Amino acid sequence: MKQCGQCKTFYKPSEFRVKLSKLASEGRGLYDGRRLTMEMSICRQCRPKPRPYTAMTERELNTLVLSRDITREFADGILRTRAMHARRKMSTAVTKRWERERLARVKPALDLCSVERRAVKDQLRYATENGKERVIAFCETYLQVIDEYAKQVRDSKKIHDIPSATRVRVFNAWHACDKARGPMLFSKLADILSASQQPESEK
Ligand SMILES: [Zn+2]
Repeated sequence: MKQCGQCKTFYKPSEFRVKLSKLASEGRGLYDGRRLTMEMSICRQCRPKPRPYTAMTERELNTLVLSRDITREFADGILRTRAMHARRKMSTAVTKRWERERLARVKPALDLCSVERRAVKDQLRYATENGKERVIAFCETYLQVIDEYAKQVRDSKKIHDIPSATRVRVFNAWHACDKARGPMLFSKLADILSASQQPESEK
């Protein structure tokens, strides 16, 4: 048993042995194809942990290639993987920024949908409490159109118009009511559409 010079614990001698690098072994003039083993004064636990190769800089890896501790192929493999990760990370960042920008562009339409949605929900609650069947029918039709449209905009990240058949369906349901807040989505959407197309024509 041998006592560690640092933690003062007793260990088997094998806990104090280290293998030298090829270069260091050669430096001692005793290299016969096998790396030299040396016995240190501090134990394995107290020795600074070797840094993983993947955390080393290109310069550090090159030094290890020169000292023949690792092969050129091994070092190149690490550098290649690192470059690939860096490229992938950068392209992910670019994609995310695009997504954010595209989402920001359709935000006015999505905001309009959520404002309309809230108003129609309120109206639906009131109509349900008062048993106004036709208003309920209109609100349900309109809500469905709003939600479908919002989903399409969110998925495609494009503001498109609503087909006239859909508008007619909503307006018919609305006209059947005695009194109900009219659908504002279509007219307000037209404003957003013309505003969003303005920069396109300026290009
Ligand atoms: Zn120790």
